Amino acid sequence: MSHTLTVLWTIEPQTPPRPWLACSRCRGARPFECSGKTRLNANGRRLDAWLIYRCADCDDTWNRPIFERQPVRDIAPETLDALQNNDSDWIRQVSFDVEGLRRNTDRIEEFAECRVTRRVIAHPLEVCIQLEIALAVPLPISMRADRLLSAELGLSRSHLVRLAEAGRIKLLAGARKALQRPIRDGMRVVLDLSEARDQGAIADRARGLFQPA
Ligand SMILES: [Zn+2]
Repeated sequence: MSHTLTVLWTIEPQTPPRPWLACSRCRGARPFECSGKTRLNANGRRLDAWLIYRCADCDDTWNRPIFERQPVRDIAPETLDALQNNDSDWIRQVSFDVEGLRRNTDRIEEFAECRVTRRVIAHPLEVCIQLEIALAVPLPISMRADRLLSAELGLSRSHLVRLAEAGRIKLLAGARKALQRPIRDGMRVVLDLSEARDQGAIADRARGLFQPA
């Protein structure tokens, strides 16, 4: 264990997905962006709730249904509270819910860029020959594991494939071909760096110490 560097990477997407919808004002399909605002409407003892989106070109609105004609007693108190207070964390969570958006449209634009926050969990006592990366992915994300590792560790994707074939990279809580699959919360990546020539540089990148020349 003394040769293992363990880090936690928290990966958060930056831009919510944009549904493409027919905009009546633009007279064609346009991307709509989440406005960060909700609308709640009471109808006797039943409630409607929407998340408001705006056409990227003309600002026309689209109300994304969160629920419709729902009896008040069936709504979770924290959901009601979030809607009444325009809770930004809750809204952010819903705005990244791609699966939910698919109920409204098949055409959804997703954005790859995300922010990676690194935290060292355990330092190696000696030379780092094993790197263990725990992934925290609080919001759904379409980033593939190989893209993430390639961008963040400075390794080419073909290099990653070679490491995987040599059994030097393991994705725990991942299926076969997991390198090509989207990352998931709770995934762990274990890299055997014993044969790597640039193990120091890889370890520095993993913990966020890398300074581009
Ligand atoms: Zn429009």
